[in-house]
Amino acid sequence: MHLSQLSISTKITAVITFLIFSMAGIGLVGLLKMRAINADAAAIQRIWLPSVRALGELRSNVIVCRNIIRQHQLSDTVEAKQAAEVLLDAAVKTNDEARISYEALLGSPTERVLYAEWVKTWEAYLQGARQVLTLSRNSGGIASLETRKLNMDTVGPIGDRADEILKKSIDFNNQGADAAGQEAVKSYQSAVVSLATFLTIAVVIGGVAGIYIVRHVGSAIASNVTTMHELAAGHLDVVVPHQGENNEIGTMADALQHFKLALIAKKADDDDAAAELRDRARRLAVLATTDRLTGLYNRLKFDEALVAEIARAERFRMPFSLVIYDVDHFKVVNDAFGHPIGDSVLAGLSDVVSSQLRATDTLARWGGEEFAILVTGSDGCFVAEKLRTAIAGVSFDRVGGVTCSFGVTEYLEGDTPEIMVARADAALYQAKVKGRNRVELYASPESVSSAA
Ligand code: GH3
Ligand code: MG
Ligand code: MG
Repeated sequence: MHLSQLSISTKITAVITFLIFSMAGIGLVGLLKMRAINADAAAIQRIWLPSVRALGELRSNVIVCRNIIRQHQLSDTVEAKQAAEVLLDAAVKTNDEARISYEALLGSPTERVLYAEWVKTWEAYLQGARQVLTLSRNSGGIASLETRKLNMDTVGPIGDRADEILKKSIDFNNQGADAAGQEAVKSYQSAVVSLATFLTIAVVIGGVAGIYIVRHVGSAIASNVTTMHELAAGHLDVVVPHQGENNEIGTMADALQHFKLALIAKKADDDDAAAELRDRARRLAVLATTDRLTGLYNRLKFDEALVAEIARAERFRMPFSLVIYDVDHFKVVNDAFGHPIGDSVLAGLSDVVSSQLRATDTLARWGGEEFAILVTGSDGCFVAEKLRTAIAGVSFDRVGGVTCSFGVTEYLEGDTPEIMVARADAALYQAKVKGRNRVELYASPESVSSAA
């Protein structure tokens, strides 16, 4: 398994466990080394130095004894000799005590062998010394030459040997103390090297692992956060990284992917809804401006177109005419053929008129069987006449021919929609009055001239 597949908690746990074990290991090594150093120091303190001290005491005591024996021989009174013997007894007693304390410190076989040898030699010396004392005491004064010779040639050398043995023991203990001291120094140096090595290794491994985790986890989280920002900014085509990874980052990425897909679905829904709304608005707009029966603009739309056309004419000095036409005797058609047939005539009539007009002209159902046209340019009467002729030439199903009457007026400066409509209406009225199926141009309130 790749390292990045491990969960963040596993990684952190691994690093912490490593550090804990490292610290415990380093502590253990330190403890063992300290114990070794302590053991060496304790050995010096408890065995080697006390031994040297006890042996030193023994040695000085031996010298004291030998001096007393020498003193005894040189004394010339019985009292002085007796005093020397009392001193010797005390010295021997002191020596016995020193021996007991040294025996408690005996550890190594070498030392035991040396001690046993010393004891034997010392006993032999004491025995010889007592012989010398007896001879010296018996002499009553300064010891005889034989006695002193015995002491110097036979007993003295035994004492020398005993002293040699003690010196050897002291050397042995000194060497032991030296060795223990060196051992302690070595243990200390090895402790320093081991601890420094382990500490360095732990710091390097712990540091590298720590940096790796922080970097890896940090960059993974940062990339997920970047993705979140992208999604928030509406970039739904962003690729979500770390998906499917078997860790917390992967879980986060999978959740982000779900979120992204949900956003995409939601956006699609929203787009559909918006398109439907737009469509409905467009249809409503068409409905609002269109006449259901004929499909032409309705009165509302025509009013707007008229206002706009007047504005354009004012601004650009472009002429235009308003034409209003009405089906003649349409009531008769309804009465004779029924309302639905009348409707079909109105629709067919609208088709005929539409087909005759230019794209720039605006045709609308004004109401009932009445229609209005905005004719751009200055040929309103001409267009009306053309329409009148076209309508008169058409035969409608069952009904046959129908005619229309037309009222025309041209735009005059300062006109309002109401004024123009009133003039066109007046002209239409004139057309009806004058016999229908004709075109009338509004000229003045008094006179309405025929354009037909
Ligand atoms: P005139 O020549 O004076 O205009 O005579 P007319 O019969 O056309 O006039 P009138 O105003 O008396 O009658 C208009 C008729 O038009 C009455 C009405 O039933 C009919 N009409 C109006 N709107 C519609 C419609 O949408 N469909 C049908 N079928 N008839 C309509
Ligand atoms: Mg009519
Ligand atoms: Mg009418």
